[in-house]
Amino acid sequence: MSMNPFEMAQKQIDLVAEYIDIDSNILRFIKRVERVLMVSIPIIMDDGRLQIFKGYRAQHSTVRGAGKGGIRYSPEVSLDEVKALATWMTWKTSLLNLPLGGAKGGVLCDPANLSKNEIQRITRRYTSEIINIIGPHLDIPAPDVNTNKEIMGWIMDTYSMNKGRPVPGVVTGKPIEIGGSVGRQSATGTGLFFVLEALCHKLNRDLKDQEIVVQGFGNVGGTIAELLYEKGCKVLAISDISGGLYSNEGLNINELIEWRDKGKSLKEYPNDHYKKISNNDLLTTECDVLIPAAVENQITIDNAGDLKCDIVLEGANGPTTPEADEILNNNNILVIPDILANSGGVCVSYFEYIQDTSSYFWSLERINKELKKIILNAFEEVWTISQEKQITPRIAAYIIAVNRVAKAVELRGFYP
Ligand code: NAD
Repeated sequence: MSMNPFEMAQKQIDLVAEYIDIDSNILRFIKRVERVLMVSIPIIMDDGRLQIFKGYRAQHSTVRGAGKGGIRYSPEVSLDEVKALATWMTWKTSLLNLPLGGAKGGVLCDPANLSKNEIQRITRRYTSEIINIIGPHLDIPAPDVNTNKEIMGWIMDTYSMNKGRPVPGVVTGKPIEIGGSVGRQSATGTGLFFVLEALCHKLNRDLKDQEIVVQGFGNVGGTIAELLYEKGCKVLAISDISGGLYSNEGLNINELIEWRDKGKSLKEYPNDHYKKISNNDLLTTECDVLIPAAVENQITIDNAGDLKCDIVLEGANGPTTPEADEILNNNNILVIPDILANSGGVCVSYFEYIQDTSSYFWSLERINKELKKIILNAFEEVWTISQEKQITPRIAAYIIAVNRVAKAVELRGFYP
């Protein structure tokens, strides 16, 4: 049976606590979420029936700033999942030293079986239900699994209509025309690229000589594959949910992106020179850098021992289970953890929020320059601590993130 995600998040804090000098009261406090709101969302469906959906918004920490984190729509959403994801957002914003906390929301629904109008009604009612705990200085949602910029636009509109004024800063990941940021769409992949480039520099490797395997061909996987392909790297294999393609000569990523953008799956790709492989074969393909950029729990106790790469760069959130992490460490596979590697997305979300609240919009050049500066600062800090203490980059990243939050709690004190 898989572990309860919130218990897993709490165990991670206990693990890091062994490495840092943390007050036991502060430790007890940061292992809990500050606030959870559970709401009922009654919706008249297109056929006239009333269906009641359940929704959550959890704020793990607002000690260092407003809550920040996505909203997911999925039948799998649970309160403990949302609490865990909110906790991980706290560590991600803290690691980047952004003045934000961690939050997450979700609605139990299956968008594949809902009309666009039903999704819009769910979004607007969910926003109204959580309206008192979100806001530009309170908690700023963003897209996550099965939510997108259109849904963020509806959240922005619902919030603004209720407040009687436009409030673009209530949510990030919006369409550019209503206060979204340039570069947000590609931000996570771009951040991964900056981190890998810096890592290769540390390891005295030439980035363009690296052979790459990417799991996931969506926003994150597609962007990083494209950037590395343009850099001259061989992308040996890539997959989507239908399966993967492999070529020891390297795949033509631009052609595959064109194919994907026509709404086609990789399984259907007509090219006899490319070998069709399963997602599990893809993960154990021999390469220099494996980038899991699809979903969580992909590198597990069952396949971790078979990985044939030197580096795992975590594009997805939680792609490696804790047991698998230990196996990779014992096999000298360097894992760059999700809270660092894929933090480009939240970083540019933060830029979107700054632009909205100051009503001044930046160029793509400025976005990428500032993103690079922030993510590489975090990378340097993680790298230095992991080298000095001879610990994994994951533990080093958690040490920095948890310490920063603990210090903020200490300075603010326990009210009253
Ligand atoms: P996406 O929906 O755009 O793409 C997901 C890709 O993974 C698709 O190609 C899909 O076919 C594939 N996939 C889905 N289920 C799979 C499975 N079981 N096995 C293999 N492939 C599967 O999503 P995304 O935005 O690219 O997000 C991917 C991961 O990155 C998620 O874990 C997400 O939480 C994380 N992430 C995303 C962002 C962002 O800005 N989009 C930021 C940080 C982290």
